[in-house]
Amino acid sequence: MNLSTPVKELSRIGPQYQKKLKKLGIETVRDLLFHFPHRYEDFSTLTKISNAKEGDTIYIQGKVLEIKNTITWKRRMAITEAIIEDDSGSIKVLWFNQPYLADTLKQGSLVCLAGKVAVGKKSYSGIYLSSPIYEKISNLEKKNLIHTGGLIPVYPETEGLSSRWLRYILRPILNQFKNSLKDPLPKSLREKNDLLILNEAIWQIHFPESKKLAKQARTRFSFQELFLIQLNVLREKMRLKKEGSLAIPIDVKIIKKFVDSLPFKLTDAQRKSSWQILKDTEKARPMNRLLEGDVGSGKTIVAIIASLGAAKAGFQTAFMAPTEILAKQHFNTLKETLKDFKLKIGLLTGHEVRIKRKTSKKEFLEKVKQGKIDIVVGTHALIQKEVKFKKLALVIVDEQHRFGIEQRARLCREYGKETKLVPHLLSMTATPIPRTLALTLYGDLDLSILDQMPKGRKKVITELIPPKKRKVVYTFIRKEVKKGKQVFVICPRIEDKETSQAWSDVKAVKKEYEKLSKKIFPKLKVSMLHGKMKSKEKEEIMKKLKNKKIDILVSTSVVEVGIDIPDATIMIIEGSDRFGLSQLHQFRGRVGRSHAQSFCFLFVDHWSPKTKKRLKALLSSETGFELAEKDLEIRGPGEVFGVRQWGIPDLAMSSLGDTALVEKTRACAKEILKNDPNLKKEPLLRKEVKDFGKRIHLE
Ligand code: ADP
Ligand code: MG
Repeated sequence: MNLSTPVKELSRIGPQYQKKLKKLGIETVRDLLFHFPHRYEDFSTLTKISNAKEGDTIYIQGKVLEIKNTITWKRRMAITEAIIEDDSGSIKVLWFNQPYLADTLKQGSLVCLAGKVAVGKKSYSGIYLSSPIYEKISNLEKKNLIHTGGLIPVYPETEGLSSRWLRYILRPILNQFKNSLKDPLPKSLREKNDLLILNEAIWQIHFPESKKLAKQARTRFSFQELFLIQLNVLREKMRLKKEGSLAIPIDVKIIKKFVDSLPFKLTDAQRKSSWQILKDTEKARPMNRLLEGDVGSGKTIVAIIASLGAAKAGFQTAFMAPTEILAKQHFNTLKETLKDFKLKIGLLTGHEVRIKRKTSKKEFLEKVKQGKIDIVVGTHALIQKEVKFKKLALVIVDEQHRFGIEQRARLCREYGKETKLVPHLLSMTATPIPRTLALTLYGDLDLSILDQMPKGRKKVITELIPPKKRKVVYTFIRKEVKKGKQVFVICPRIEDKETSQAWSDVKAVKKEYEKLSKKIFPKLKVSMLHGKMKSKEKEEIMKKLKNKKIDILVSTSVVEVGIDIPDATIMIIEGSDRFGLSQLHQFRGRVGRSHAQSFCFLFVDHWSPKTKKRLKALLSSETGFELAEKDLEIRGPGEVFGVRQWGIPDLAMSSLGDTALVEKTRACAKEILKNDPNLKKEPLLRKEVKDFGKRIHLE
């Protein structure tokens, strides 16, 4: 057996368990060993039975005086009832739904038990030990107990894998590896940072001798995982620096002409960011830049400036948006704002292709391939294999949390094969990256920040509306619509396991639409929008909205990102308790896009302390930045950035908040790469970095 041995080759792990392990992503012995406990039960001191008090978590040793199974006739639950005795007294013990225990722990056997003391009601009056973890022993003293006694590891119990079972499996494996694991962290690094050596750490994290050692073991692995992230990201950055890109010369005249043609003045932040981007793309090395700016800060214009520059130099740009609606909006904005610049702009989504008017897909792709379309706007359809560019200089990815690295890689696969060139990448987001993430997972990106809103914007007035005030809101809407304003009504996300989420969301929208159009606002123009509509219908709705043929749009979260309808000034969010903070902020960002005063009214279905905290944060914070910080506090980076899906190990996840450790690992990674960029002197580490990179996928 070695670390890469598949768990299915271990005789103690049957097919049932293999399946469960696989669901947790555990396929090899290594995965198993690196499946760490998330806490420990402290059973280091033995309790005399006579001292057991209600509410205590205790650890006892004794003899089984009697043990039997009964079944509760009401709930048909099997209860195993035992009496355990030591030299101080006896106590009742109950286990639920584990009838086999009566055979495992026979009368007269000696056991260690660890668990919580509870007080029973009715037929089980008096105190009892509730479902303790147990272990049979041969005599009454502590000796290498793995389930009871000392610090007991408790694993995140998922997929029906109990901590008990994991302890049972892990102990012998660890025994077998004792002192034979090779440490990928160089000795000097360990010594400098006071880290336990791997063999010791892996043992102590599973079966710690003391709390102090458990903590040291955790520190070591936190360090290791952050360090590996750092090495991966920094090496990626170095690698990219060696690649070539098309250098886009800056044509100040054209850019100036464009800026002057806009109906507004650019903010200083827009100017500065545009300039940073133009300076980057002027080089023959790939840009990797993230444009961060709150909703409504005007990121699109900056992206257009970059694509205009590329197009005028004779190169192509791929401009990608996460939804069809947004792609189409960008397509229209580009066409409109660039109409005096004689560029060919195309749209490619899963459902349609279009240049000036509709064309066949075949013809479209041919034109892209011949370099006859300057800017191709689209959805994920852009990264299909069949899409081939002639001179792709720039990739823009809007509103995406992992910022397009993967998308660029895919676009390059075909394009780069022949040209050996990598396009510049500009990704855009409204969610500010916190410092620790900027220094780790996003450490390979350069940042441009739009920290200024266009002039004259008013703060969106956000209010929580109690049910009895609903009518007041509806009256207010009628008044505003009369003044020519438009309204969004967002329906709650419904968790429904039976049907797919999208369908249950649709149901909610239809219901709300019926109510509003027939009962509440029979005289107003009410429409609905949801993800299951045909793209043509969606387009029709968006067009009507823009031309003010719709007063009130009832919608699912499809309008969440990017949609820009300046005359919409009221945002109603139903069931706002069901959305995350950043998402609510995105919804709110759909209004407040003109000089007019805008409003965001929140309704709540279910109150909970967490909901209260979240919505309060929304009411009190104006900017996405403040909100993101609060959201991170409440939900953590795993949820906020979807980082969890990248396969980042749990320990690394929780260490991401540790700024000091993040900075230390970054400094160490930089230092080691400075002298040894390819890690030639550290083959073990090099392999570990590579494997780590394969396990996490930064997409
Ligand atoms: P986001 O950063 O959320 O993507 P958009 O690019 O959609 O924002 O811009 C929001 C709105 O603000 C658009 O209607 C856009 O035309 C307008 N806008 C952009 N820059 C400015 C500016 N400097 N002054 C006034 N309005 C602007
Ligand atoms: Mg946008």
